[in-house]
Amino acid sequence: MRLANAMGFGYPQAMTVTVRFAPSPTGHIHIGNARTALFNWLFARQRGGRFILRFDDTDTARSRQEYADQIQTDLHWLGIRPDVTAHQSVRFDTYAAAVERLKAAGLLYPCWETAEELERRRKIRLSRRLPPVYGREALKLAETDRKAFGDDGRKPHWRFLLPNFSDDPFSPQRTEVHWDDVVRGPQTVDLASMSDPVLVREDGTYLYTLPSVVDDIDLSVSHVIRGDDHVTNTGAQIALFRALGAQPPAFGHHNLLTTASGEGLSKRSGALSIKSLAEDGIEPMAVASLAVLIGTSESVSAARSMDELAERFDPAATSKSAAKFDPAELVTLNKVLIHAMPFEEARERLAEHGISGSLAEPFWLAVRGNLEKLADAEVWWKIVQEGPQERPEPAPEDAEFLAIAFDNLPPEPWDRMTWKIWTDRLKELSGRKGRVLFMPLRLALTGREQGPELADLLPLLGREGTLARRP
Ligand code: GLU
Repeated sequence: MRLANAMGFGYPQAMTVTVRFAPSPTGHIHIGNARTALFNWLFARQRGGRFILRFDDTDTARSRQEYADQIQTDLHWLGIRPDVTAHQSVRFDTYAAAVERLKAAGLLYPCWETAEELERRRKIRLSRRLPPVYGREALKLAETDRKAFGDDGRKPHWRFLLPNFSDDPFSPQRTEVHWDDVVRGPQTVDLASMSDPVLVREDGTYLYTLPSVVDDIDLSVSHVIRGDDHVTNTGAQIALFRALGAQPPAFGHHNLLTTASGEGLSKRSGALSIKSLAEDGIEPMAVASLAVLIGTSESVSAARSMDELAERFDPAATSKSAAKFDPAELVTLNKVLIHAMPFEEARERLAEHGISGSLAEPFWLAVRGNLEKLADAEVWWKIVQEGPQERPEPAPEDAEFLAIAFDNLPPEPWDRMTWKIWTDRLKELSGRKGRVLFMPLRLALTGREQGPELADLLPLLGREGTLARRP
């Protein structure tokens, strides 16, 4: 761990680092979401902190239990173990109480504008070279106007009055909010450059801001780490923390991942969901390594374990521009992990593919260097156990050579030297060498032109198994 980083953020040492990953369970999470989850997880791990999984499920119409379940499965698969799991959908009373406090303080005010009305005003402001922000017209309404809206049965939406003025809310002035972003370094947002955010919609449902801030306070979140699409929100959220009487947490905003053609990843880009990558046989550490290291000054290479990744993770090394993500890199990393995967790590999963018993370990060590995915071991197990799955007819010019070869198998016991002994003898007997010597043997033994070293495979086949493969 880089202690210099762990201690350099300027927060009190006694404070327990508490982070949260806050997905809305409205779809499957993808590698970009995994990046956010892992940034939080590794950040907490480096500092002995806590990780909260918080489901932002206030949108009860779009949130689904099956998505929440899948997100938990995905995080577990990645190696993330939340200390606490929270749901916003059981906390509506708490948000209602916060709404009442803000109203009582005059910081939440009702507005009745329609979307068309707002758009019309926005255009007028732009034509007058004014910033296209909400002009707080609703604050000017007389009590009688408000009552009239109510009598008409119209429901207001509610805006948070940003503290960007001294006495007169209609004369906002530059109001800088600063924070030292744990990813991006010093940040400044001007509260006069944004509209008072809507916290509660006409139908009484919450936009994400208020529940998120209320929960971050109640859950004692010390660091909010999320995508840089939230940088501007952070200015308003810091103001909301203060309005609710709380000290804002530290913030970190990482760059987002895009597809190779530069498009943002969406919950609908199914092929890149964590679920489908897992089903496709990609190793969790391949996904985690790429999700964390891409778009940083660290080189992208496979970390074997979360501890190793935590060693290499440095939020401040993240670049500020979006990072292009190429799924082909996952396969490259996957191979590296599989090629060096110790048998102990593979054992249980191999057993699920029917690969077990005393041969499982030497088999794994023989074949792993040729596999892209662990599941590819199954076909080699069949080849070793049952013989070639497809049997190409030997070329006529090889028939005599093969007859000599199978007549001259070395005596048992067989080990890694047997292949050399056998082929040295065949060189003498046939005068063949190189490809014309090896390839007919490889084809007869495995049915394939490529594969694991025959020196490793031969002892697994045994003399009897080899003879049984005589064309
Ligand atoms: N549910 C929010 C989102 O997915 C969480 C953002 C945050 O971390 O504050 O965008």
